[in-house]
Amino acid sequence: MGSLREGRRAVIVACLLEMKALEKVMPELPEVETLCRQLQQVLSGRTIRGLAVHDLRLGQVASPAGKRVLGVSRRGKGLEFALTGGHSLCLHLRMTGRLLWRSSRLPPLPHTRFTLFFGTDQCICIDPRRFATLSLKEAPAGEAPPMPDPLRGLETSRLREIARKRHLPVKSFLMDQKIIAGIGNIYACEILHRSAIDPLRGVCSLSIEEWTEVSTAAKAVLTRAVECRGTTVSDWRDLFGQPGTFQNELAAYAREGHPCRRCGGIIHRRPLAGRGTWFCPSCQR
Ligand SMILES: [Zn+2]
Repeated sequence: MGSLREGRRAVIVACLLEMKALEKVMPELPEVETLCRQLQQVLSGRTIRGLAVHDLRLGQVASPAGKRVLGVSRRGKGLEFALTGGHSLCLHLRMTGRLLWRSSRLPPLPHTRFTLFFGTDQCICIDPRRFATLSLKEAPAGEAPPMPDPLRGLETSRLREIARKRHLPVKSFLMDQKIIAGIGNIYACEILHRSAIDPLRGVCSLSIEEWTEVSTAAKAVLTRAVECRGTTVSDWRDLFGQPGTFQNELAAYAREGHPCRRCGGIIHRRPLAGRGTWFCPSCQR
């Protein structure tokens, strides 16, 4: 009985450790935007020759074979491939999904969930936790109303209006995907450091001027992160298997004990909703 309990405990510890590791790998807006831009470069005008689904958990996905890719766009953290015939292929990478562009002659890789074939090239989705979703829709991409996108600029008065009725820390608000799509733990810490706002502050207390700061910081941080092809603090790789470089420019995230780049104070770490939160108590108010 005791060993059974210990065994269960070992499994729980292993799962927690795995989740802790995965906390760092979830693709956020800059990583998905990086994939979107790279896919646009290699796929535009090319015809899909076939789709192989290797994981039944993806369900029945109608084959897009024979359709040409007209363009690739991002909607929040989702990717939409506009195809000929008024169809679109919608992909969401969720927690651990990755895309890799490679030669069709190479042997399969572990955790591959589906492969899109383009003649001698292929685009594969690797996804160890198997949460990514793929579907072929009859409506063309971009039909749904646009979502607030922090890379394109946020509507500060609308955000303040929603925030005034909420009682949660500003960091949790920024990470609520129903309000703003695409900001996860890394970029929430960076955006709030740049706007000099304490991540634990109640979101209803932010003034319109502070929301303007947040919106400006969000655009600046995310734009730079896209230029750097994302942040590789764990296993993020772009479409061509290359790591991003924004980890070299982080001001707060995972910098506990290091001096603040703005004021020289010490970066602290606090748990918030089960996630690490890094900030400078000296200059973030
Ligand atoms: Zn500081």
